[in-house]
Formats: sequence, structure tokens, C-alpha cells
Amino acid sequence: MKEIHHWIDGKEYKGTSGRFSDVYNPATGEVQAKLSLATKDELDAAVASAAKAQVAWGATNPQRRARVMMEFVRLINRDMDVLAETLSSEHGKTFPDAKGDVQRGLEVIEFCIGAPHLLKGEFTDSAGPGIDIYSMRQPLGVVAGITPFNFPAMIPLWKMGPALAAGNAMILKPSERDPSVPLMLAKLLQEAGLPDGVLQVVNGDKGSVDAILDNPVIQAVGFVGSTPIAQYIYERAAQNGKRAQCFGGAKNHMIIMPDADLDQAADALVGAGYGAAGERCMAISVAVPVGDKTADALIERLIPRIEKLKVGPYTAGNDVDYGPVVTKAAKENILRLVQSGVDQGAELVVDGRDFNLQGYEDGFFVGPHLFDRVTPDMDIYKTEIFGPVLSTVRAQSYEEAIQLAIDHEYGNGTAIYTRDGDTARDFASRINIGMVGVNVPIPVPLAYHTFGGWKKSGFGDLNQHGPDAFRFYTRTKTVTARWPSGIKEGGEFNFKAMD
Ligand code: NAD
Repeated sequence: MKEIHHWIDGKEYKGTSGRFSDVYNPATGEVQAKLSLATKDELDAAVASAAKAQVAWGATNPQRRARVMMEFVRLINRDMDVLAETLSSEHGKTFPDAKGDVQRGLEVIEFCIGAPHLLKGEFTDSAGPGIDIYSMRQPLGVVAGITPFNFPAMIPLWKMGPALAAGNAMILKPSERDPSVPLMLAKLLQEAGLPDGVLQVVNGDKGSVDAILDNPVIQAVGFVGSTPIAQYIYERAAQNGKRAQCFGGAKNHMIIMPDADLDQAADALVGAGYGAAGERCMAISVAVPVGDKTADALIERLIPRIEKLKVGPYTAGNDVDYGPVVTKAAKENILRLVQSGVDQGAELVVDGRDFNLQGYEDGFFVGPHLFDRVTPDMDIYKTEIFGPVLSTVRAQSYEEAIQLAIDHEYGNGTAIYTRDGDTARDFASRINIGMVGVNVPIPVPLAYHTFGGWKKSGFGDLNQHGPDAFRFYTRTKTVTARWPSGIKEGGEFNFKAMD
């Protein structure tokens, strides 16, 4: 059986814990590798070595660091297919989707090439007689990234790009479910010129995460994953005096107004609800048509589109719409929640419960489901299902629809479909959700804007990628300098006069 270990000090490091977790091929249900889980001592040693490597890397001029990012971009493009193929085999998503995963991470690395500009400080000339004030952005030192299974290329790249370009060293703790791509990326970074030890990839589970949270050398933690873990990590990191940004789960609503183009809305809902088997934090999992006429017309359009979806392994080619979910436990959880929806009185208008793929009976495939007449008290409405299940909640007015989204505990993404500018503008302005689409179902901001949710979808300050990421991974130092020649000319500086 293949074993997967760690990447420490620029080489593969064979873990010594003797503890392993299974890495599956979700399409067949087979275990394809064993992942070594690091001990606390191994994690601490990786941190100590990263701290040493960070000193020279932090002192390297930002343009040189940016050149490493530039070469990294070239190498990712060179290896795009093999990265995507490996990603599909461990995650289960289709090959085009896997390429998209790498691509959306790559775009953040492209943005990081602008690090010299983003790291520039501020300067005030002659703030007083002979006095200059300047602020500089300095790296934090050693920082950590803890990432989820559902974007095994994109999210590690979102973490490592800004952290490293800003001059930090990083401990990356990827998901145990699909650990190979982060290790491949670490090797590519070495090839691109990153000094050994500046990026350490340490695989592990809760034990390694707790070791990260308790290690006093680590200054900041960037986490992405489910809400209970995001909240736990935020609290424990804060208790230990670390900077933390922790992004959690989601329940993204799409509001469909009576004036919307319903064919467009139905197409968008199918892509955003079922793409990647619904395993996206920006997936739309709740459709809110306004008025029964809109709801009936929307459901009528959705059913044939959903029934046509092709579910299969990534090896079956580009016409597969989505693949298996990540584990057997994930599949069972989805089907349990579907059953709860039926039991609690929702109308299951597309029933995927009996879905079976010939030749892949042990794979973690889940057929598509569509619920109508879901109400806010039901578990399928309150919980993040993270599977190919779309719930329809009928609202009688725009006010009722927006209030639903406002009242939901998650606040990652949302969308409105309408032709009316006033309604769209009101929605964008009043909604308490981090990312908003107007006739755009999955409003993931591009790399030069920032990504982050509100409410229980995000804990801590500042967002991922864009300028916020550089703020998160640096701290400001402000120097007030008085020069003797200035004092001679202007006399003693009068601080009071500055008030
Ligand atoms: P997860 O919370 O199970 O795991 C995320 C990371 O936390 C992994 O590295 C895992 O090893 C670690 N972890 C798991 N249990 C832990 C514990 N008890 N203590 C300490 N660490 C632990 O999440 P997942 O299932 O890998 O990913 C799916 C979730 O991530 C969904 O909820 C999805 O919405 C969310 N997500 C959010 C965003 C966002 O930007 N808001 C993006 C992608 C995914």
C-alpha cells in the first residue's frame, strides 16, 4: 500500500508516529494510500526549522520573493494535468472541475507576484521639524494554514501564496482526505526557488492541529473548514495570543424574483447546486422563488434538468456533471439528512436515494435530490448538507425572501436573480452575507478582491486573498524619526502642537 508522509526541510520526511489515516478513491470506495499522521514532536520540530529558514527568507527583497511566485505560476501551468488528475483521484471531482480548483488557486499566486507593491509602507515627510514618520509591513514569522478537503489545490494556494510572498514561513496542514496535491505544490515551490524549510507540509489530524494552536512560535493561523472546527480553532488560537482567520460552513440562498429569466435561473441553480456534488462552500443549497407562480414555473424547469445530470467517475470523461462525494461517512450523512427532510414533511420532487452506478457499487456516489416546500424549521434547511441536494423554500414576497437569508446563521454567499435594478441594489445593500451575486450564482470574487463570509461562516478579521491576505500575514511597524539637522533649524519639536 502506498504511504504518504510529510514535506519538511525541502524533502520528503517519513513520519514516525505509526498512526495512519486512509486515503480513498471515492469512485471505487477503495483505500488507495495510507497517510502518516504527525506527532506533536514532529510538528514542533518542523516549526523550529521553519523559524530558522524564515529569517533569511523574510530578509530577501520582495521582488526576489515575487520571482519565486512567477516561476511557481509557470510550473503549475506546466504540471496542470497531472495535478488535476491526482486531485480527481483523491477527491472524486471531475477532471475539468479539478483543473478549475488548481486554476483558482493559481490566480492567487499570480496576484502575489505583485507583493512588492502590496508590501509598500507609508511615509510622512516633515511631520514636525526634522521629523519623518514611516510605516512598514513586516512578516509575522512562522504562520500556519489548515485546509479542508473540498479544494485541495485552491485553498492551500490561497494560504501559501500571500503568506510566503510576504516573507513568512508556513506550516501547511492539509486535509487528511486528499493530501497529495499540497505535497506536489510544495515540491514545485522548491523547484521555483523557495528555500528549504520555508514551507513545511505536515500531515495530521486533530493532534497536529492542536500542536499548531499551542505552539508559541506560530504567530497566525489561517483556517478553512466546517463551522464547529472554525470556531474551535478561532477560540483556541486567540487564547494563545495568535492572529486567526477561520472560515466555516455555508447555506447559500438564491432568491428568484418573478421578473427573473427563469431558464437562466434554473441553469444557474443546477450548476451551483449540483456541481462538484454540492461539495462547495459557495454551492447554492437553498432556492427561494418569490410567489407560487414563480415557484411552480421554476420547479417545472428544474426537474428535467436535474434528471438529466450525469453522475460518474472522473475517468468517464468530460460529459460527467459530478462525481462521488468524498467518503462513505459523507454519503451516509447526506442520505440521513434527505430522509429527515422526507420525515419532516418536505416534498422530495427529485429522489436520488436509489441511485446506483453500475460497476461502481462501492463508490461514494449520491444521486441528485430536489426538495420543494421546505420550511425554516426543518433540519435540511438549518444544516449544511454538503451534497447534491437543493431545497426550495417558497416565499410570498421579496421581504420574506430576504429576511430568510438574513435570519440564517450562515453568511458565506448568496445570489438574487432579477431584472429589476432597484431590487438588486436593495438586496446587495441590506443582506448580511459576505459575497453577493446579482444574476451570478456563485459569486466567488477574483483573486484581486477578497473572499470571506459573515456570521457563522467566518471568524476573525480580514478575508482570504486580495489585499486583505497581505494585511493578515504582515504587521505594521511605525517609526517616528527626528534628525539632528532638523532640530537645529526648527528648534525643539513641540509634540503638543501636533494634537
Ligand atoms: P473539516 O472542518 O472537517 O476539516 C478542515 C480541517 O480541519 C482539516 O484539515 C481537518 O484535518 C481539520 N480538523 C477536522 N476535525 C478537527 C478537529 N476536531 N480538531 C482540529 N482540527 C480538525 O472540514 P472539511 O470536511 O474538510 O471541509 C468541508 C467544510 O469546509 C464545509 O463545511 C465547507 O463549507 C467548508 N469550507 C468553507 C470555505 C469557506 O471559505 N468558508 C471554503 C471551503 C470549504
